[in-house]
Amino acid sequence: MHVQIPVTVHQARLGPQEFQVVRPALPPRRALLLDEGPYLNAYVGQEAARLLAGLWSLAAISPRWLVHVPLRPTGAGAGEPGSRPLDLVLLHHSLRFAPSRWKELRGRLGPGRRRSVSAPASEPEIDYEALRHAGNRDHFHQHLHAETLFMTGSAKAFRETAGLFREVARHGPAHVRDATRHGHYCARLHRGDARTREIHIEYVDSWPFVPA
Ligand SMILES: [Zn+2]
Repeated sequence: MHVQIPVTVHQARLGPQEFQVVRPALPPRRALLLDEGPYLNAYVGQEAARLLAGLWSLAAISPRWLVHVPLRPTGAGAGEPGSRPLDLVLLHHSLRFAPSRWKELRGRLGPGRRRSVSAPASEPEIDYEALRHAGNRDHFHQHLHAETLFMTGSAKAFRETAGLFREVARHGPAHVRDATRHGHYCARLHRGDARTREIHIEYVDSWPFVPA
């Protein structure tokens, strides 16, 4: 099973190297990624969680693309004190792209070409416990540059974690609307090593959303 994702494909040159940046044609509206000190918190509505799952899967199969997900709110009121809204870029180690050059690359991107791309709609059953204790090789590296979180990983790392967003999209709405259940619905993308932070992915039903 595959899903079709409408995207725009942008090309830009940095020195001798040409990069392709892929963005969702419509950035997720009900999604927020916040840098909250010790935590990276993603707040997502159902549609946004589905789109992020699709983009994560797309990253798994597209080692030559930088997948850019604009998530920072525009306009006033963006960002509470102590929390910083971030955009997201998914990329492969093999691309050897230095996140410190992102601002320059981003500034050179044109309007891009519209395309529809196909991404797997599901992953094989994942042993999350095993994933948690696996070596660092298949984990993500994280970098923060220009208000953007860079998740650099392998195909395996993206494939194995796309389902976290899918889980949130699938179970979040029923959980928060069920009065017998308490608390929020979330999934956790565990930290790989001492230099990465866990991403807490929380389903949020009502938008616009202001974090507590
Ligand atoms: Zn939680």
